[in-house]
Amino acid sequence: MIKKNIQMVTISSIHFSPWIPYAAGCLISYCKNIPEINKQYTFAEPIFRYQAVELYDDIISNADILGITCYVWNQAYNDKLAARYKDLRPDGIVIYGGPNIPEEDDLRKKFINSRPYLDLMFTGPGEKNFSEWLLGNSTEGTTTQDTSNVDLKKMRKSYQITGNEIPTPYSDGIFDSIFENSTTMLKASFETNRGCPYSCAFCDWGGQARSKLTVFDISQVHSQLDYIYSKKNVSEIEMLDANFGVLARDVDITKYMIDLADVNNNPIKLGYAGLAKNGSKHTTEILNLMGKGLKISQRNNKLSFQSHTPQVLKNIDRGNIDNNKLLPVLEQCKKDGVTTTSELIMALPGETAESWLATIAHNHSLGIDYIRTYILNYVPNTTMYKKEYREKFNITAKTIRFSYAINSKTYKDLHNNKDFQVSEFTDYEEYEIMTGCSSWDLDEIVKMFDYTWWYHNMWNGGALRSVVSSDIKKEIKLFFRNIEKMPMMSSILEKHRSIVRTLYSPGSLEKISDLGTYLFYSKCLRTDDLEIIWQNQDQFVLEMSILYGHDKMAKCVEDYKKTFSMSLYGTDANILENPHNHLQSKCISNE
Ligand code: SF4
Repeated sequence: MIKKNIQMVTISSIHFSPWIPYAAGCLISYCKNIPEINKQYTFAEPIFRYQAVELYDDIISNADILGITCYVWNQAYNDKLAARYKDLRPDGIVIYGGPNIPEEDDLRKKFINSRPYLDLMFTGPGEKNFSEWLLGNSTEGTTTQDTSNVDLKKMRKSYQITGNEIPTPYSDGIFDSIFENSTTMLKASFETNRGCPYSCAFCDWGGQARSKLTVFDISQVHSQLDYIYSKKNVSEIEMLDANFGVLARDVDITKYMIDLADVNNNPIKLGYAGLAKNGSKHTTEILNLMGKGLKISQRNNKLSFQSHTPQVLKNIDRGNIDNNKLLPVLEQCKKDGVTTTSELIMALPGETAESWLATIAHNHSLGIDYIRTYILNYVPNTTMYKKEYREKFNITAKTIRFSYAINSKTYKDLHNNKDFQVSEFTDYEEYEIMTGCSSWDLDEIVKMFDYTWWYHNMWNGGALRSVVSSDIKKEIKLFFRNIEKMPMMSSILEKHRSIVRTLYSPGSLEKISDLGTYLFYSKCLRTDDLEIIWQNQDQFVLEMSILYGHDKMAKCVEDYKKTFSMSLYGTDANILENPHNHLQSKCISNE
């Protein structure tokens, strides 16, 4: 029997350095455990790096089946690659799967019918759908150009994998050739369980499709981790579990990873998609272990609050997650000297500039060392994406387009060429953001960004850490009451506001061509603000003396100088080891 060739594709986000194609690897691993599939098919090394689609001609023209996993950050590229493949191999079959495939009937039909090169697509968890299709069996989650009626309830139930069916792409050697041949550092995704019992309105992870928790077999978890830590070209592991710390064994898994890092002398950074909500003694223990066992550059301890405004939490279906239940975890971290960060999402439905300021101030008062703020990306298969939700909150949205020509640029490039622009949009990626809702409009969101800008630069970035009082709301208000007396700070702020207005102005599509806006959106809501302050310290002292007096400000800048490093300037503030030293913030430039 002549075997058919399958080429799987999972393209990394345009904004980040390459991730191992974990989704494609899981599908391959699962299928390769089925002897009948092995008899009929071979799988090539999955494609995962961006390059002009034409450069993949030789590879994809060998494939009888092109299987592509889709998310918001790779859909436009996937479409281009699939169309190219169909030109080269009209007899080949293109299959899509992944979280970006709409679940709702009308959206799903529109999605496939607008892509004539697409033969079929799977909705929901992929392993079973794909393997059943390869075996020639009917599958609940399949949509073709002609048939689009999927019984979602049936499909979700039928295609959940169980703990001992888990794919093990790392230890199966699916990525061996990628690790061997990569000359750049790679990032590795990883799961110890799958699913989330919550159903936050902005997230496609929980209630919609994967609410049941599937716990992966522990020996498989260990073998996967053994493999990853044996590789010297992995910079970061991202634990994809939605609620790591929800199970007692998660403490042991953390110890296992810390030991592996030690034994292999491999300082891989460890990140989590999400730690357990509603308080868990295991979470405290995990953060403590990480705080003590890993250097700050090796961990990302974050508590996800999203907002502290009660009505907002209700609007986003997080009423059943009590932020206060994380406070004992936080208190213990402070006692143990473990630094913490928190995640907030700006401008959720129900938020106003005043409530957002109160959220920042409340978060600050909890003693969290660093706030990470995110723009809300609008993604399919979420409650928020549904027509009824949009109508209820009067939501408007807009597509933001980024050219791949800009994706390798960094803050250093911006510092060297502040006017850098791209002119061609041959290859691009698109994201959708909410541009308005019943609680905020353009003016209101500009104010929200103002407050975030202050906190991000003056506190997280460290510019005013040693001089401001603990009443952060008062400090922020004081600054903006006096902004007109500060020419340099006004001009930095105006540049920032202009980016916000560009992103959030009315319209359906925004093509981003300048590097400052690209970095603002994709890295850390900042352009070259800190660099300007750094280069103009005397002026900064002069302007801030209006608020704090000259002597205090001069001392503050001297303190700031001791910890700030231009060589580290970049994406994100990164808190140093001692959480009680308010001059600990630095920036990193690894993106
Ligand atoms: S945001 Fe986190 S807790 Fe909420 S549904 Fe998504 S994964 Fe679950």
